[in-house]
Amino acid sequence: MEYKPFKDIKLSRLGLGAMRLPQTAPGFGGPIDRPAAREMIEYAYNHGVNYFDTAYVYHNGESEVVLGEVLSQYPRDSYYLATKFYVHAGVPVEQMFEEQLKRLQTDHIDFYLVHGVDDSCYDAYEKSGCVDFLKRMKAEGKITWLGFSSHCSPDYLKKTLAWNDDWDFVQIQCNYFDWKFGTTAEEYRILEEKNLPIVVMEPIRGGKLATLSDDALKVLSEKRPERSAAAWALSWVRHLPQIQVILSGMSTLSQMQENIALFDRESEFTAEDEQTCEKAAEAFKKEVSVPCTACRYCCGTCPAKIEIPEYMNLYNRMKLDGPMAVVGAKVESEGTPADCVQCGQCKERCPQGIDVPAVMKELAGVMEMMKDIK
Ligand code: SF4
Ligand code: SF4
Repeated sequence: MEYKPFKDIKLSRLGLGAMRLPQTAPGFGGPIDRPAAREMIEYAYNHGVNYFDTAYVYHNGESEVVLGEVLSQYPRDSYYLATKFYVHAGVPVEQMFEEQLKRLQTDHIDFYLVHGVDDSCYDAYEKSGCVDFLKRMKAEGKITWLGFSSHCSPDYLKKTLAWNDDWDFVQIQCNYFDWKFGTTAEEYRILEEKNLPIVVMEPIRGGKLATLSDDALKVLSEKRPERSAAAWALSWVRHLPQIQVILSGMSTLSQMQENIALFDRESEFTAEDEQTCEKAAEAFKKEVSVPCTACRYCCGTCPAKIEIPEYMNLYNRMKLDGPMAVVGAKVESEGTPADCVQCGQCKERCPQGIDVPAVMKELAGVMEMMKDIK
């Protein structure tokens, strides 16, 4: 396992993200298959992973419990726990923190984060007063290092950094796709300028960069047939100097074994490899997105009063980001995909030839599946 110094300790470059542990039932964040999860966590620990990341809400709270059960069998100074305060859980930070200590069977949290700050929940976090409380916990030794995880735009990232002049680290989504098509490069540079260590979430973009699309896979395999798509994504993140820990939300033991084997080997990533990732990102985007130009030719036709281009936009985000993209998504529209009567009038008008009814059906299914997730 590769390690990198952080303050006066060393952290494994690969961290275990306990958001997608194996489950006994399908659905996002469902009940954990505890024997399978135990096997994975023990395997990670025994193969040198020492950074374990969870959150109050992962697997409806079961993720913290399972991590606590498994890791408490080992000496407390041989692993590092990261967990988070989530404002939308509706539990005051003081109460959540106490509960987390119990769930994780510990008297302190090594890495504590304000969870998933973004432009829309920035105010709610600010109002909660959580940072003052967390700084107090740090002063009392119940938190060792304090940070936040961010889905913010670069402007809001700067504003969140201003909450505390003493952040120890920041967690952001970072992968070659978002570097090319999102704002990751800018976020990275903001943090690099402040010399803040970066913990990476979604290096494989929720698994999307492991499966990609046929054309994108071809771009990668023509260059290095021996390297899997997931290994390409992890190797790309690994070569960035400001990156401290790379979290991968592994769901099976074999994924974990593959990832650990990668971090057991020397990092090997060239400038040419960088270009290959860029080309794969371009090919992937072209293949998975519907090419809606928001021309609105379809809009007046819809008997269900669905703002079709808005939902096309959401659909593309969902295809790239996974089902979580629909959670809390705000779409200005009278009708929703669930109201679609499959009349097909929109499809007839669409100059891009998009099968809009099929898109609505798929989107309605995902929105129904995710409706209880906050
Ligand atoms: S197929 Fe659905 S989205 Fe398209 S016009 Fe008919 S109701 Fe609206
Ligand atoms: S007609 Fe097609 S391209 Fe134009 S807004 Fe509707 S779905 Fe998008």
